[in-house]
Amino acid sequence: MSKFIRMTLILCTALLAAGCGQKKSEFKYTVDEFADVKVMRYTVPGWDDLTLQQKEYCYHLAEAAKWGIDIHWDQNCSHNLELRHALETIIKEYDGDRCCPEYEAFEEYAKRVFFSAGIHHHYSEDKFFPQDPCTEEYFTSLLVSTCQQDAAALLVPYVFDPAVCPQRRSTSAEGDIVALSAVNFYEGVTRGEVEAYYKGIEVPGDPTPVAYGLNTKVVKENGVVVEKPWKVGGIYGPAIEKICEELKAAAECAETPAQKHQLELLVEYYNTGDLRKWDEFNVAWVQDTLGVVDFVNGFVEDYNDPLGRKGSWEGHVNVKDVKASARTEVMSANAQWFEDHAPIAPEFRKPVVKGVSAKVIDAVCLAGDAYPSTPIGINLPNADWIRRDYGSKSVTIANISHAYDCSAQEQPRSALSEFAWDDEEIAREKKWGSIASEIHTDLHECLGHGSGQLLPGVSSTAMGEYSSTLEEARADLFGLYYIADPKLVELGIVPDPEVYKAGYASQIRNGIMVQFNRIEPGKTNTEAHMQDRKLIAQWCYDNGQNYHFCDEKGCRTIDVIEKRVRDGKTYFVITDYTALRELFAELLAEIQRIKSTGDYEAGKALVEKYAVNIDPELHQEVIERYSSLGLKPYGGFLNPTIVPVYEEGQLVDYALKSPEGFLDQMLEYSAKYGVL
Ligand code: ZN
Repeated sequence: MSKFIRMTLILCTALLAAGCGQKKSEFKYTVDEFADVKVMRYTVPGWDDLTLQQKEYCYHLAEAAKWGIDIHWDQNCSHNLELRHALETIIKEYDGDRCCPEYEAFEEYAKRVFFSAGIHHHYSEDKFFPQDPCTEEYFTSLLVSTCQQDAAALLVPYVFDPAVCPQRRSTSAEGDIVALSAVNFYEGVTRGEVEAYYKGIEVPGDPTPVAYGLNTKVVKENGVVVEKPWKVGGIYGPAIEKICEELKAAAECAETPAQKHQLELLVEYYNTGDLRKWDEFNVAWVQDTLGVVDFVNGFVEDYNDPLGRKGSWEGHVNVKDVKASARTEVMSANAQWFEDHAPIAPEFRKPVVKGVSAKVIDAVCLAGDAYPSTPIGINLPNADWIRRDYGSKSVTIANISHAYDCSAQEQPRSALSEFAWDDEEIAREKKWGSIASEIHTDLHECLGHGSGQLLPGVSSTAMGEYSSTLEEARADLFGLYYIADPKLVELGIVPDPEVYKAGYASQIRNGIMVQFNRIEPGKTNTEAHMQDRKLIAQWCYDNGQNYHFCDEKGCRTIDVIEKRVRDGKTYFVITDYTALRELFAELLAEIQRIKSTGDYEAGKALVEKYAVNIDPELHQEVIERYSSLGLKPYGGFLNPTIVPVYEEGQLVDYALKSPEGFLDQMLEYSAKYGVL
């Protein structure tokens, strides 16, 4: 079950983000645009307030993060690293014409591969292809002219053949999702064999279950299913050794003894591959909330595995944003109140909510599965039993959201003006959209994921392949329900009672319509967060027709969300915000019931009915309207370089240097950190 949230769309047109304009003349957030992505850079506002020791700690943690980049490439698909080497050689050595359309199409393809860390779209997970006029013949000629003709037999079909590795992670209802997935977690095994293998080692009823399979590849050797660990001396050994070296260097300049201890546990885990050690590390990590600097480093999120077991490698280094953290600390301090008042059946509420720590952070380094496409919030660890017994750390990443906002302001047109019904909706979004989205993210991360409990005997994996979607929907609904609660105004978190309306309108617009611009015509909605949003919006639309509703203003029967058409364009308009909140509460209660009781069939029915299929006509319309705006639906970020500064041979500082070009950073990283 994944706890990362990602920026849904770059549709925020907020003019509120403080400080965007300050350095506008010399600093542009947008670095590059190609295909459907925009590459940005971010700043780290609190960097200069750190001590030299804290900066040095960040530096080594960032090095440890970057050494893992190759792992992520290889996990995504078996020949991604060979392809990357070939693309780099062409980019560095090709001495033919680089201004012709053929080369430009090649370069765009290369950039897409770098952005996605492989041949599959980072979000849709479908294979993408070089566009005309970068044909097979032209690509082959580039290989030949850079003395790489030997690689052509492998790489040409890998790049061009639609039948080779068509999907990174298959969600097909028919067929074997393990065999159909190109992701490099399994080799020569079927879904049935993998499931039987883990059934054989899992201990039923273990109160502290091991995340079996998180750090291994499953293969068949001499007809027997075996696991190959990712560890020092195992698969990815050379990269993991480098990671460990930097983690050890970091331990020497940690802020606290607790941090040093965590790093030692992590190194031990990387050396042994022992998942109990990984649990031990997570228990230590989640309880340590004193440091300013924090990190993620390991095989963490299981999104990319069709069976939801294998962890994609990722690295993240961040520093606490002290001012912004005040808001989430108030939420955390009141966690029990929110749990006690949640609109779910009392037996599904946690009697005691433990250790919901929450803070606002600024990213300093992104790597692996968090780079360049990156989350705007993190809630870890993932193990349910550690969350139950020790709590979880929940963060929102302020400087990334801020960079999105500022970069959007560099664009001439917005999705908001295209898809919002009227000036009131637009004005409200401009005034409150940014803060509504921040508070919703905080609620989702700090309280939503940690809320609720399973009934005794219900397995945390009972929701199977629907678990990510349902879990994200549950956390989103928790946030949607509470963002409209007067309690938040009372706590000083929400500055105005109108704020939630901006959040609601954006949720509906996006979930039922705008987000489909990211899906190709004819395709269904497969990604967990997108399914979550569609599920919520579609369920509320369908169940809000002819909806009978009573509150202090009296009783009424209404269409809570109206579908309207003006000048051939479709809009979804909320007619009654209070009634919509009631619908969110109803759906939250139902999804919580499903999760708490392990009602797989009901969970499946909800997702299949409301989250997967897209009305083809509406889909086409959205794509056309969105593409007319000239916006990129996806964003990603380059890292600043942390540069040691010496004076007379003495290390005196670490300076942050903003990156210049997308390919520059990509080539620099693989030259420096490419070990596999
Ligand atoms: Zn989430």
